Amino acid sequence: MNKKNFPLLCTRNVIVFPKTQMFIDIGRPKSIKAIDVANLHYESKIVLVSQINHTVDEPTIDDIYTIGTLCEIKSIRRKDDYIKVIVEGIERVAITDFDDNGEYIGVKVENVETVVSDELEAKVLIERINKEIYDIIPSVIDEGNLFKISNTADYEQFSNIISQFFVKNVKAQHDILATEDLNQRLTKLLERIIEFKEMELLDREIDLKIKERFEENQKEYLLKEKIRLIKEELDEDGLSDIDNIARMFETEPFPKHVKDKAREEIKRYEMTPASSGESAVIRNYLEWLYKVPWYQKSEDNEDLNLASDILDKDHFGLEKVKERILEYLAVKKMTNSLKAPILCLVGPPGVGKTSLAKSIATSLNRKFIKQSVGGVKDESEIRGHRRTYLGSMPGRIIQGMKKAGTLNPVFLIDEIDKMASDYKGDPSSAMLEVLDPEQNSMFSDNYLEEPYDLSNVLFVATANYIENIPPALKDRLEIVELSSYTELEKVEISKNHLISKQALMNGLKPKQIKISDEVLLYLIRHYTKEAGVRNLERLIAKLCRKVVLSILKDGKKSQTITKKLVNEWIGHERFEFTIASKKDEVGVVTGLAYTSFGGDILPIEVTYFEGKGKLIVTGQLGDVMKESTEIALGWIKSNAKKYNIEPNWFEKHDIHIHAPEGAVPKDGPSAGITLTSAILSAILNKKAKKDVAMTGEITLRGNVLPIGGLKEKTLAAHRSGIKKILFPKNNIKDLDEVVKEVKESVELIPVSRIEEVLEEIIIW
Ligand code: ADP
Repeated sequence: MNKKNFPLLCTRNVIVFPKTQMFIDIGRPKSIKAIDVANLHYESKIVLVSQINHTVDEPTIDDIYTIGTLCEIKSIRRKDDYIKVIVEGIERVAITDFDDNGEYIGVKVENVETVVSDELEAKVLIERINKEIYDIIPSVIDEGNLFKISNTADYEQFSNIISQFFVKNVKAQHDILATEDLNQRLTKLLERIIEFKEMELLDREIDLKIKERFEENQKEYLLKEKIRLIKEELDEDGLSDIDNIARMFETEPFPKHVKDKAREEIKRYEMTPASSGESAVIRNYLEWLYKVPWYQKSEDNEDLNLASDILDKDHFGLEKVKERILEYLAVKKMTNSLKAPILCLVGPPGVGKTSLAKSIATSLNRKFIKQSVGGVKDESEIRGHRRTYLGSMPGRIIQGMKKAGTLNPVFLIDEIDKMASDYKGDPSSAMLEVLDPEQNSMFSDNYLEEPYDLSNVLFVATANYIENIPPALKDRLEIVELSSYTELEKVEISKNHLISKQALMNGLKPKQIKISDEVLLYLIRHYTKEAGVRNLERLIAKLCRKVVLSILKDGKKSQTITKKLVNEWIGHERFEFTIASKKDEVGVVTGLAYTSFGGDILPIEVTYFEGKGKLIVTGQLGDVMKESTEIALGWIKSNAKKYNIEPNWFEKHDIHIHAPEGAVPKDGPSAGITLTSAILSAILNKKAKKDVAMTGEITLRGNVLPIGGLKEKTLAAHRSGIKKILFPKNNIKDLDEVVKEVKESVELIPVSRIEEVLEEIIIW
């Protein structure tokens, strides 16, 4: 057989069939060289054969298929580091010799003839293949080619073209190329075509599925997005489109005047260009009009026993307060009206005012809402702003009603004593209208414009300090005082309420945290200094969190809190539980003050030095106390002789008075006797007793005047370890209020004259 030499081009995954053309990129130097050699010496003829494994870089005879194609190089385009050639297959060749000379590979080949065993069969096969490829052709070759294929008379060429395009895998292509018998070749081709078609169909099916799923996801996403946007527009309640709003106003049982108003506004809205600011203002108004409750009411629970149970369950002690609340509810039930005065719970922070009001709401089955009026200066904060601009809103009362969502909530007006008034109008007169049962059925809010009925609301107010409640309001209020808790009460409150409450809130069973009374007392004495139990509750919450952590980490079942653990988990002791001054000192006397945080001790220090009779007052002393200082000094001057003070002593000395303790301004005219005692102790250079505290104002003649807040003051003294309290004789009537626990451990001495005070306090 006729053997010929040609340069060889090893391809990766490419087989060129005779009578077909291919683009091939060539990068390997030996291959480029082979192309050049072919061009120069072999009339552009070259043998192409595919590597069996396309990853091999330097193929040997064993790495290539045995049958290749003799091709003609039709064109060459040189790029930077590779060349692009178009080759056209001429005939199939078998490689018989392989010679790698280092520069390129040369091969010896011999022609492989095609045998046609059965022409008729070949024809049938071709028809069959034609049929099979008919519906997949467009995806593989263009229509022009299709035309060529179906009209070709040359069976072999047909087989070559179809193999080139429809058989994807090189191994299969080679198998076909290497088959001598055309019929066999066509049969293999048909098998491949059917396989190809199935793959193609499967592929399309998968595509379709992916597309569908994608579309479904896309659709879902789009729908969700749409819903989200709609909800956002609507604020979740169907207020997006004006027809909807109109329908809701018509169908729901709004009072007639509200429906009329809504209709009017909707008409105005429709006539206003949507882009104008006015349109948004009207829209906003309509939303408010809709959302404020006009007819929604909760059903009252009239069972006073239940109310009593709930108050008891939620609160330790406070017997008088609870009783007063129950009386109030009973009257309300009997008279079926709330025209009684408004309850005002007065007391220091953290003594349970808010939580009592909440319990009232729970026991009546009413909604609870708390709105603070602390710091309110301007009437419009209570009564709202006229809707002249976007962003104007109803006042705090109507805002609260919207939050409550019913016409008859328990409405807690917090910090009523902290309302202020200025040039913009007096908020207390607006407040008066809110609280006055004669007027509040027609409460007018500037924004809402329509009269609003507040007569079903059960208002409860809170204040820290009675004296600061505006007088006009005080008249409307029924004051119920809550006072500071004693240490023992705090222990009981913790044991019965705070610990279990905080344990549950932090996911613990109450049994899992164990605190003895002793540790509770330690916590109260050394980590809190307050009238109520707010900080104590916070500390207990903190301990609960730590317990949760240790249970989860160490797998413990429960945790007992010891003093050591308290130190570790909360930190060092914050307060020393001792009296203000640790030893008897000259010029230092402990007074007692009544502040908005409950009672407190108020140590006063006095010193003097050579000077010109000036009086220097520093520290947290209110104006009233400065006045007391003048009076105290006046009395001492007029009694100087009695205490052997030189007549001109005052001209030659400056006196400095300082009240070091506390950051809260302490006021109240009750420091006169303390100041007198401290100044005299300083001037006479005689020590004052550290464990005696006192409260009382003084007149220029030395009489001791009565004071307020005896209970709170004695509690504070007790908290600080004072052993003896001097108080004005005129306050003996208030001794009933003083807690038993205090009476048992503190000596209470009534005084009417300053001399009696001096006798007790100064160590003569
Ligand atoms: P206020 O409104 O007086 O500032 P809070 O009502 O907010 O105080 O009370 C602070 C916390 O102390 C609340 O968790 C409350 O339940 C609790 N508390 C106060 N007094 C008592 C009490 N007598 N019995 C049970 N818990 C109380």
